[in-house]
Amino acid sequence: MSALFPALGKESAAPALCFGDEVIGYPRLREAAGSLAAELAGRDRVAVWATPTPTTVVGVVAAVLAGVPVVPLNPRSGERELAHVLADCAPDLLLTGPGDELPEVAAGQERLTVVTERPEGGAPVPAALEPGRDDRAALIVYTSGTTGAPKGVVLSRRAIAATLDDVAEVWRWTDEDVLVHALPLFHVHGLVLGALGPLRRGGTVRHLGRFSVEGVTRALTEQGGTMVFGVPTMYHRLAEAAGEDAVVASALRGARLLVSGSAALPPRDHERIRAAAGARVIERYGMTETLMNTSTRVDGPSRPGTVGVPLPGVDVRLVDERGERIEGGDGETVGELQVRGPSLFTEYLNRPDATAEAFDGGWFRTGDMATRDAEGYYRIVGRSSTDVIKSGGYKIGAGEIENVLLECAGVREAAVTGEPDPDLGERVVAWIVPVDGAAPPDADRLAEEVSAQLSPHKRPRVVRFVAELPRNDMGKVMKRELG
Ligand code: ATP
Ligand code: MG
Repeated sequence: MSALFPALGKESAAPALCFGDEVIGYPRLREAAGSLAAELAGRDRVAVWATPTPTTVVGVVAAVLAGVPVVPLNPRSGERELAHVLADCAPDLLLTGPGDELPEVAAGQERLTVVTERPEGGAPVPAALEPGRDDRAALIVYTSGTTGAPKGVVLSRRAIAATLDDVAEVWRWTDEDVLVHALPLFHVHGLVLGALGPLRRGGTVRHLGRFSVEGVTRALTEQGGTMVFGVPTMYHRLAEAAGEDAVVASALRGARLLVSGSAALPPRDHERIRAAAGARVIERYGMTETLMNTSTRVDGPSRPGTVGVPLPGVDVRLVDERGERIEGGDGETVGELQVRGPSLFTEYLNRPDATAEAFDGGWFRTGDMATRDAEGYYRIVGRSSTDVIKSGGYKIGAGEIENVLLECAGVREAAVTGEPDPDLGERVVAWIVPVDGAAPPDADRLAEEVSAQLSPHKRPRVVRFVAELPRNDMGKVMKRELG
């Protein structure tokens, strides 16, 4: 196949990477990553200390060019998580940036410091870049650990290229796009879409280091940003700010593309951004194991609360409890969403049993429950493991209850879980973060609203007020920590 990074060979005028004041053009990236690739040849597997710096991107690109599988490590992992990941993936070299400080558990690893200039006397760029078959392991990315310990997901160059070309088509992503990026670089959202995506297209990544409303606004208005990839917690803050500040609203309106993913963006936030900024957010749904599956198309209508339609290269089906395919689209019948196509992962690292269980004859079982409407839009009801509450003989999706609660006055954030109940099997529990500085809303009124808007069996039996919800690096609510 063609290379994952064809743009590296071209004389692209656009900068490749902008991190603060450090700007790296394509020729310099090719030199730095190419000479590092020459040094990596012969390694079995390397890891990268994935701080949001250019050295992380150069390290990953170099490993791909060398054909050596690379694992991005979460620099915010605690000692135990990092020890687990290092023991699991056993890298024979750890790439770090000049300023990276490593915790004790990584001390025994052989290290190499990545530089973003070609080092003095550095190895020459190898003639054969991206050697070997394109279905071999290229990246090993750990899942977010939302439902259990993170699993190492083996991804090939072919899978990465397939997903990037799929989203490029439906988002009309070109070499003129400047991506405003504020996500970590150790998950597929920030690394594959956010860093490798622009490099495959020949465009630009502008990484902000960390997210702030001001940073995104400035990048869109003063630094040429054309698109933003973010998680719902970021869009929530942008929505709040756009309602109060015309500069933020106008920055969002001026963006060519705003994309949200990694978790559901509540319809309330879609609507706020539309009302305040006249902008729409494209929602897409993906996973570490499958890369991107569905998205709203830029040339198609949006349906807040849905994750759009399947990408051109992805087959999607819904399957009922007996494993039978659910045909048609009534927008109501819930089934497990399964996917098939060239962007699927190869295997879970060191977990042949989990890999075998995850597939149903070539279809990957996502564990996400969904509906499909007549136009082919999918709505994610939730994960079968944490978001489907079995209460009084009903199966209740947490997401629609959360969305009703979020519409109630005084509610800033909401999460719904199930809790054992002697009569019902499980009872619906609502966790509410009140709006800052306001008195908590009335619990009975919240429960009543759910009952009135949805149906009585979905009414929360317990409402708990909390100061914040436990969230991971991607802003996903860690429901297993509630309770
Ligand atoms: P783990 O597998 O370790 O429990 P995780 O599933 O959160 O963690 P990821 O692979 O990063 O790890 O996330 C994929 C999941 O994120 C999907 O299975 C889905 O539940 C959720 N998700 C992603 N995008 C969306 C979206 N737009 N709407 C709703 N859910 C989404
Ligand atoms: Mg998962």
